Amino acid sequence: SSYVAAENRYDDMQYRRCGTSGLMLPAVSLGLWHNFGDLHPGGTQRAVLRRAFDRGVTHFDLANNYGPPYGQAETNFGRIFASDLKPHRDELIISTKAGYDMWPGPCGQGGGSRKYLIASCDQSLKRMGLDYVDIFYSHRFDPDTPLEETMGALDHIVRSGRALYIGISSYDHEQTVRAAAIARDLGTPLLIHQPRYNMFDRWIEDDLLDTCEQEGMGVICFSPLAQGLLTTRYLSGIPRNSRVGMGSRHLRPENLDEQTMGTVRALNEIAMDRDQSLAQLALSWILREERITSVLVGASNVTQLDADIDALSGNQLTDDDLIRIETVLAE
Ligand code: NDP
Repeated sequence: SSYVAAENRYDDMQYRRCGTSGLMLPAVSLGLWHNFGDLHPGGTQRAVLRRAFDRGVTHFDLANNYGPPYGQAETNFGRIFASDLKPHRDELIISTKAGYDMWPGPCGQGGGSRKYLIASCDQSLKRMGLDYVDIFYSHRFDPDTPLEETMGALDHIVRSGRALYIGISSYDHEQTVRAAAIARDLGTPLLIHQPRYNMFDRWIEDDLLDTCEQEGMGVICFSPLAQGLLTTRYLSGIPRNSRVGMGSRHLRPENLDEQTMGTVRALNEIAMDRDQSLAQLALSWILREERITSVLVGASNVTQLDADIDALSGNQLTDDDLIRIETVLAE
């Protein structure tokens, strides 16, 4: 059936400024890494994207290699964009990335060469049926390519009209400082950093959050639910339709060890005491940090997406909640 966007779609979503830029991102953004390839039903993909937009989720995050197979998430997104979302292009912030192996031969093996980044950007635009993306990322730091070449390619991607802004993902503190300086000198400042951050992986608290603030960059956190570990998904076994149950290379049965599951159960108690689900607690906990622009969730169905967005209307975290969480995480 044809799609008419909800009229009240901007009523409840919260928006945060992305660093010192002019761009506002929704506090909850949707990533298309795992749930938009060939393993998940197209009807569900369409329903999740429609529901997201209807609730003010204006930011969709992709990459060249999202699938499976590689490229498929962009192709699937492009189809749904064309049928449903195209009239709303100027309300949407669509990002993609290049950095990992993508096509045969040395030019397509990933990294940060000018050749790879520009060709990959063109491929992504074609798959999605877009004239431009809003944010184009270097998906990972490449130690074998001069950073000047990588940042120069991102600058060119903007100047040639392929993207409006640029970002970096998973660059460490020192790489970020260098990249930001080069990009600023080129006249195309880095808009945003996309690191992993969740209760189980807190590396950005050391330096990176401070660095991004100093550089005026926003921060969007990927895998905020630790791919589903920080939810009730695995509390009583491994559901067949879950990321682990479907045989993901990135989350495996051995990640569900007794120690981890003990922590998950203890965190779930805290969530229940707050009248929240564990997923909602995990998201609220990240968004307590004002320098974080957005949490980038994945959702394999509309119910999960709704629950994740509802984290925004949950109770404020108290000092007591934060102490309980620290105590559990330290055990
Ligand atoms: P999450 O940590 O949000 O995990 C998403 C998974 O958690 C879902 O697929 C689902 O698992 C489960 N889940 C979500 N909400 C709920 C809920 N309310 N209740 C129960 N289970 C829930 O994020 P992802 O790891 O998917 O990453 C999110 C996005 O971040 C990606 O799509 C991508 O855009 C980006 N990313 C970027 C990377 C980078 O290198 N820059 C790397 C990884 C991700 P299930 O599928 O089992 O139902």
